[in-house]
Amino acid sequence: MKNHFKKTIVISATACTALAFSLSGCKKTYNAEFSETSAAVSVEEGTLADTEANVLPNESTTVESNIGPTVPASNSGAQATVLAASNTTAQTKKASETTAAETAAPISFQSRDEKVYIMADDVNIRALPETGEVLGKANTGDSFHRTGYSDKWSRIEYNGQTAFISSDYTTTNVVEKKTSEAVSFNTDWEFGGNSKINSGTATLYYATGSNKKGKTVCVNAGHGTSGGESVKTLCHPDGTAKVTGGSTAAGNTHATAVSSGTTMSDGTSEAYVNLKVAKALKNVLLERGYNVLMIRESEDVQLDNIARTVMANNRANCHIAIHYDSTTKNKGAFFMSVADGIKGMYPVSTIWQESDRLGANVINGLSANGVKIFGDGSMQMDLTQTSYSKIPSIDLELGDKVSDYSDSTVAVLAQGIADGIDSYYS
Ligand SMILES: [Zn+2]
Repeated sequence: MKNHFKKTIVISATACTALAFSLSGCKKTYNAEFSETSAAVSVEEGTLADTEANVLPNESTTVESNIGPTVPASNSGAQATVLAASNTTAQTKKASETTAAETAAPISFQSRDEKVYIMADDVNIRALPETGEVLGKANTGDSFHRTGYSDKWSRIEYNGQTAFISSDYTTTNVVEKKTSEAVSFNTDWEFGGNSKINSGTATLYYATGSNKKGKTVCVNAGHGTSGGESVKTLCHPDGTAKVTGGSTAAGNTHATAVSSGTTMSDGTSEAYVNLKVAKALKNVLLERGYNVLMIRESEDVQLDNIARTVMANNRANCHIAIHYDSTTKNKGAFFMSVADGIKGMYPVSTIWQESDRLGANVINGLSANGVKIFGDGSMQMDLTQTSYSKIPSIDLELGDKVSDYSDSTVAVLAQGIADGIDSYYS
């Protein structure tokens, strides 16, 4: 009895991106959602009158719980509608209005009272099946209370209101939330071709609590790339020379891909201490609802400073690199602010104010937690990380060779940095 959907849908890559699906995933969703447009399904518990009121999102919450609102369905004899790749937003809107105007047959939902799990990422949660406003996205392992089921659409409770989600992505079997994924380097990313060491992978950890921030912080434990000190990479994307000193002197166009870092006064490598702080920071950030992109989680990762930065640009919202300075003064914490000489250089020109603001917030967070601060908390420096960053990005020096890095001190540092990130985003 199914009336097959006669419309031709050609969806552009742009629309796929908007759905946050990979091309294949996008196609799948669209198929699932649009196949719903076949006409009436059998009615077991009654059918609502096909009135305009019944298709209003606000009205859908008032219908009897075991009967869904009328669902816009396509007229099987309707003229072909083509959403061509070149379509404008206005044209797309017009098409959806046409669909709503063609509202004909209702969907009947079988009454359910059960918990369902989502089996895919970025699944639309809609105010109405098929064409309703997208209220949010569901991801693998998310769960909802389902009150109604049809073979194409499930009626669920979402933030205290009635919403709909494609039944294709639901199951009553428990699905674990995705907690992490490996992130590989992509040489097609902007500036990716300037990286020389990029065979390693970072790990993206997802916040799983109910306090999700929707932000990803790149936590980059400085150094720890074996062989990195013998490889040279371009200091600046445009090939110009470095304007300040550092591990590579001013005037050079090429710098060490990853330097080996300093050694603490007790003989421990800076890289080890950086990683200890990074791991503590990761845990605090995840607890606070941030996703965390961990660049390095062991002694070695084969990602140079350009690769780390480009990866952060593409997979994170801000980038915090953890370091300790090579002095022996216990001078306190500070961040490397953006050097005046590179503020006009792309991409620094697009983001340096935000990087400096992030740095100031993090230093304030550390200071508020009792951490000693060096000077005014910043020092201008021309770093590879800064030169390639398209997101707010800082090199944080938490102390030097004689600073304490006991568990209790590291816990305070992690708290202070996280407080600073919170205040940056508040
Ligand atoms: Zn360092």
